[in-house]
Amino acid sequence: MSDLRVRFAPSPTGALHIGGVRTALYNYLLAKKMGGTFILRIEDTDQTRYVAGAEDYIIRALKWCNITLDEGPGIGGEYGPYRQSERKDLYRQYAERLVENGHAYYAFDTAEELTAQRSTFEARKETFRYGIFTREKMKNSLTLSKEEVDKRLASGDDYTIRLKINKDEEVIVEDLVRGTVTFQSNELDDKIMLKSDGMPTYHMANIVDDHLMKISHVIRGEEWLPSTAHHVLLYRYLGWEDTMPKFAHLPLILKPNGKGKLSKRDGDSLGIPVFPLSWKGDDVKDEFTGFDEFGFDPNAVLNFLAFLGWNPGTEQEIFSLEELCEAFSIERIGKAGARFDFDKARWFNQQYIIATADDVLAKRLRPALEAKGYEASDEYLTAFCGLMKERVMLDTEFLDKGYYFFESVKEYDPKTIRKKWKTERLGLFEELQSRLCDLEDYSAVNIESEVKTFMADHELGFGDVLPILRVGLTGTMKGPSVFDMMALFGKEKVDNRLSEAYTHFSKATV
Ligand code: GLU
Repeated sequence: MSDLRVRFAPSPTGALHIGGVRTALYNYLLAKKMGGTFILRIEDTDQTRYVAGAEDYIIRALKWCNITLDEGPGIGGEYGPYRQSERKDLYRQYAERLVENGHAYYAFDTAEELTAQRSTFEARKETFRYGIFTREKMKNSLTLSKEEVDKRLASGDDYTIRLKINKDEEVIVEDLVRGTVTFQSNELDDKIMLKSDGMPTYHMANIVDDHLMKISHVIRGEEWLPSTAHHVLLYRYLGWEDTMPKFAHLPLILKPNGKGKLSKRDGDSLGIPVFPLSWKGDDVKDEFTGFDEFGFDPNAVLNFLAFLGWNPGTEQEIFSLEELCEAFSIERIGKAGARFDFDKARWFNQQYIIATADDVLAKRLRPALEAKGYEASDEYLTAFCGLMKERVMLDTEFLDKGYYFFESVKEYDPKTIRKKWKTERLGLFEELQSRLCDLEDYSAVNIESEVKTFMADHELGFGDVLPILRVGLTGTMKGPSVFDMMALFGKEKVDNRLSEAYTHFSKATV
């Protein structure tokens, strides 16, 4: 194993957005490519935002996509526990260390006092920021006497520990995707490190854990770039700067129209999935269908996600997970936001369906088939998948589009009947029907040649006969080769369906 160690560090605040899956994927790909270690760390120190079931969802979602973990909750590893709530006693000493070496301080301001400050600033159309320019006026260990501070600490007063940002400092982040990003310390606030309930904030816990878990690369969404200034300072103030991980901030995933960040609500309003798996929260509004229920192959979803922000620099688009591991590199991650093009996701899925063996597809469809109450042998279902797979983009479309393989036609395309059916030809079509019944070898080739002979005998063209057969047997002009379908349906089903159809057509055109 190389020293490369990466982590995916979601907070269990709800279902994992598809952007989170992309972050996990890129971390995983880099780990696999470099022979490193991929870690899952659950960042659950904010109890107010904790959602039951979210951690389980994250783990199931990663499993569904075949993103496997080397270390994490439930798996273990040398650097556990991997759930921050189980590490909570560990963080305080680092916050205290910051106080001791003058890089942090105790703040005793009450919620009311902070609100009052905010309102005063708002009245002047300014934003209150606890930091370099305001901390001297607040109630903290920088402004109170040592005795007062000790007294407050001893009597158990509520306090937080805040990072003390130095004035007029430049904070430089060397980002592997974005290049050099410079922050001015005067614009940074004195972020809370330890909350009054004794729990660390995200910033504190994240840096301590990345350090203790020997993380070498932090790959995460662009929304965390502004926090990185504080993170770099934390490494500096804790004396860990020489082993600080390298940062790579991934481009945003944009709405399908390219305008703005893709959000959970876009899924609802556009009727597209933005989560890997379906989710049922406590609230009815917190319920949605995932890529799984939409009928996506997880491999296709991964392939699609890999391209949201990365490209291999070649024309190749279809990559197995192994090929992605091989081809991936941070250098080829782009800076520009990546548009969430749902049609492209469907296209990827179609390519995967086409490339999947018919019997594998059949196994995959079996549960949905049974749920619909359809019956079919493995052989029939396999042949059905073979005939339909070039005509669908999602698994769910197989049975929707090809229902007539399993039950009678529900509706005949009226346009075709109007254009193609001539009741005076009923006799001819009945003749065809009985000629087909007389066939001994009911193979597609034989059926085709019998139909052609029939056409020649009566001087009819393809356009006179095939639409009638097709719509008669399936109700629609869309679908696989009519001769292949007839061979699969078998003589009896074809015969019954043609009788039914002719009756319907004749009635429909009087
Ligand atoms: N817990 C953060 C999140 O929910 C992790 C950000 C990071 O990777 O540092 O995304």
